[in-house]
Formats: sequence, structure tokens, C-alpha cells
Amino acid sequence: MTEDAVPTTLQNHADAAALRPRTQLFIDGGFRDAVSGRRFVTENPATGQPIAEIAEGGPEDIDVAVAVARKAADDGRWSRMSPADRKAILVRWASLIEENGREISLLETIDSGKPIGDTIGIDVPETGNCIRWHAEAIDKLYGQVAPSPEGTVAMVTKEPLGVVGLVIPWNYPIMMAAWKLGPSLATGNTVVIKPASATALSLLRAAELASEAGLPDGVLNVVTGPGSRVGEAIGRHMDIDGVGFTGSTEVGRRFLTYAGESNLKRVALELGGKSPQVVFGDYTDLEGLAANMAFAIFWNMGENCSAGSRLIVHRSAKDRVLEALRAELANWPVGDPLDPATKIGALISKTHLEQVLGYIDIGESEGARVVAGGNRILQETGGYFVPPTVFDNVRPDMRIYREEIFGPVLTVLEFDTEAEAVALANDTEYGLASSVYTNDLNIAHRVAREIKAGTVSVNCYSEGDMTVPFGGYKMSGFSGHDKSAHAHDQYTETKTTWIQVAPRP
Ligand code: NAP
Ligand code: MG
Repeated sequence: MTEDAVPTTLQNHADAAALRPRTQLFIDGGFRDAVSGRRFVTENPATGQPIAEIAEGGPEDIDVAVAVARKAADDGRWSRMSPADRKAILVRWASLIEENGREISLLETIDSGKPIGDTIGIDVPETGNCIRWHAEAIDKLYGQVAPSPEGTVAMVTKEPLGVVGLVIPWNYPIMMAAWKLGPSLATGNTVVIKPASATALSLLRAAELASEAGLPDGVLNVVTGPGSRVGEAIGRHMDIDGVGFTGSTEVGRRFLTYAGESNLKRVALELGGKSPQVVFGDYTDLEGLAANMAFAIFWNMGENCSAGSRLIVHRSAKDRVLEALRAELANWPVGDPLDPATKIGALISKTHLEQVLGYIDIGESEGARVVAGGNRILQETGGYFVPPTVFDNVRPDMRIYREEIFGPVLTVLEFDTEAEAVALANDTEYGLASSVYTNDLNIAHRVAREIKAGTVSVNCYSEGDMTVPFGGYKMSGFSGHDKSAHAHDQYTETKTTWIQVAPRP
């Protein structure tokens, strides 16, 4: 095999079968069982078969991990290390993740059902890129000297919060962890992180690599276990200074309650979405449009907070746009996530599969019309597969148009005027992402300004790169951003130091 040949499905299965995943809690630089000794099963959603048993942490394990993280925060082993040294460690960590990318992407694929082409081509490289980006920033961010009166010196500086708790979803397991670990570690915090129970394996391996890279013990601690116990214990802990959460709006709300009822810890939330893709009648690149539209809603099986799940298309263009989309679906094969040709793998769980199929039933009973997909397929594999599904004849009051489905389901609606398009785009409780397609610069600028969403992409579907912030308006987020130097704000306190300088004696 030449170095850059893509491994075959057979090779991927053989290598996946040989994996020996880490399955214990990672605390104080080493692996250990949960205090209770309990374990839970993580399965492969493409087969419905168990992969491994993972330590099932509880509140008592959070107490242990927080005590370790507190000690590491207080003695300054990380926050007071020179910025250049901290940078070097995190850069090394990013490189180790990339060097072990094949193993991590295989772990991610069997644990989550995501296609191997995505985990090796997007998730792992983006993880390395994110950690390296924040690492490189460590010795390049300056504080401020305020314009204070003669005889005084005033500095405005950023300090780490101390101990940060992070709670992560299952849809981009290692990448979402990196989006929070990069900035929280770069700003000098120590961390206790909980991955989603369905997808803990990639993070446990990455944590081990952090130690190998030289991250001091106790700085990064991973506690696996159910959200209702471990997640809540993080949210309510009196000795955690801030929480970063990505997940559902419903659970996000709870973190505000947890903080309100405990120590008023800082809370930053990245939540759900129901993002619009607005297509104007003048847009001519239909093939490019179809490729972008399909990526927006079918990438990652539609299990994507920024999925472009509402297509809002000018009446004059609808037929040709749907035709182009139908042709594009040939490029979205569904099947074995370990097959390098697969673009759509398995949904995360049987429960989630049933929810997505439930929404498809609801859509049909509400009077919308399925024009592609619409059923479970490949049932004989034991996996949870749904092909790209498109609903036409959708009305804005339908549940499939209003609620986040988190599956490969696109709803299509028509508009006549620009004002109507904007009103439809904003007719949602969410505000995470959006796309606008037009050849007219005036329309592009007007509409981009009017859409209430954290990200507007024009003539593409994109969240931009690591240099730009990612976060949500309305119920898509609360008080914070991932990516870019904006992500540092939620993990730092702002300190004023006001110094009286005595006059020369
Ligand atoms: P979820 O159910 O909210 O779970 C997210 C995390 O919270 C998991 O680690 C989960 O643990 C934990 N959790 C569950 N119940 C909890 C509780 N009562 N208290 C504390 N923690 C709890 O969401 P999900 O199903 O994993 O992910 C899907 C959602 O995430 C979608 O709504 C999607 O839009 C959103 N999302 C948003 C972004 C963004 O950046 N805005 C990115 C990705 C996903 P267990 O898994 O162990 O139960
Ligand atoms: Mg799993």
C-alpha cells in the first residue's frame, strides 16, 4: 500500500476490530475505574452491537476530579508555566492527535456511526487544527494599559477562571471537545470534561495523548457517565468556576438553573438550530448550489446543530433547484461508515432513529409530501440508517418546519418577495446559522444584515474557519462563542489593576 492510498473497507474493518479502546475515567494523568465500579456499554450504531464497557462515573467521581483540578489550578503548574512552554505542549498535543489520526478516526467512526471519510478527513484534522490555533495564540495575546490619569497606571488583564467544567455532545465528539479544550486550556484553566455517553472513546484516547505531550497531571480530567448524574454534578459543583456546554437547548437551560442554584458559575451554551437556506431566483450556479445545500443538511446525517434544515426558495426557482438537488443525491451514498465511499452513516442510536422516523410520520400526517427518502433502510445490518429525505409542500406552522429534527430531513418552502424570505428565515426560535444564495450583492448584504443568526454564509454553506467566532442568537446559544480569540472570553475573568505611583520624593 502506498502511503496515501485510502484503506479499503476490509482494511478498515480489520483495523477497527483490532482497536483496544481506553474505557476508564482519566483523572490526574492516569486511568482509573469509577468509585462505584460500575460500567456502561457503548455501541456501534452501524451494527447495533456493543463495542466496549466504559466506566460509569457519578457525582462522587466529579468530586474527585474537581479536587484534582482545583489543586492543579491553585498551585499554578499550568497557569503560571511560561506562555511559550504552554504553547509548545499544546502544539505537541495537536501533532500527536494528527499522528494518531487513523486510530482516533476509527474509534470515532465505530462509536458514532460517522463515515470514516469524514472522521479522517474533517473531524480529526479540525481537532488538531483547533488545538494548535489556540496554542499558537497563547504567546500572542496582549492585555491593555488603560488611559488613566497622570500618577496612575491601570492595567486590564485576563486571568483564567480556575476550574472549568465542559459537557460535550455526540455529533462531533472529538471536534466539539477540541472547540472547548483549545480555548479553556490555552487561557490557563484546568478542566473536568464529560463526553456524551454514546461517544466517549475518542476523547479518552486524546486525553492520554495530552499527557504524552507533556500536559501536567490534573490539568485535563475526563469523567464518563450519564448526563443526568455526571453532567448535573458538573453544573451544580460549588468548586467549578465556569461551564462550557454544547448540546440541546433543553439541557442547556438546565445549566442556567444549576448555576443559579449553586455558585453562579459562568455558563456558556452552544445549542440547537433550525437554520434557513434562502435561495433567490437570480442564482445561476445550480450545481454548486445543490452541492452546498446537500452538504448543509445531509453532512453528518443531519446530526449537526448548524444543519440547513429549512430551504426557503423563490417560487420561480423551486422546480429547478429541487431537480438539481435530486441529481446531487447520487453523490450521497448511505451505508457502512467504514466504507470510504460512504457519505451518510448511521444515526447515533435506536432512540434517535425512532425520533427522526417519528418526525417523518408527523410531516406526512401534517400534509407535507416526501419527494426523496423517507424510510429506514439497511435494517438487516442492525444499524440505524435513514437516507436523505426531502419534504415539499411544507407550511411554516408544521412541526417538521419548526422543530429541530437532527436528522437528514430537509423541508422546502417557497417565497415571492425579499421581505417574505427574511420573515420566513427569522420565523424560528433558533438563530445559529444561515445561508443566502444570490448573484446580487445588494440582496446579499441586505439579507445578511437582517437574518438573526450567529453565522450568515453567502453563496456557500460554511461556518468559516478557526479565525471566526461560532455561536447562536436567540435560543441557539447563551453568552459565549466557540472558535477564534472570542472563545477565550468565556474562560477568563477580566481584572483591573489600578496603581497609584508616588511622586518623586
Ligand atoms: P444533549 O442531550 O443535550 O446532550 C449533550 C450533553 O449533555 C451530553 O454529554 C449529555 O450526556 C449531557 N446531558 C444530558 N442530560 C443532562 C442533564 N440533565 N444535565 C447535564 N448534562 C446532561 O444533546 P445531544 O443529544 O448530545 O446533542 C444534540 C444537540 O446538540 C442538538 O440539539 C444540537 O443542535 C446541539 N448541538 C449544538 C452545537 C452548537 O455548537 N451550537 C453543536 C453540536 C450539537 P449523556 O450523553 O451522557 O446523556
Ligand atoms: Mg457509541
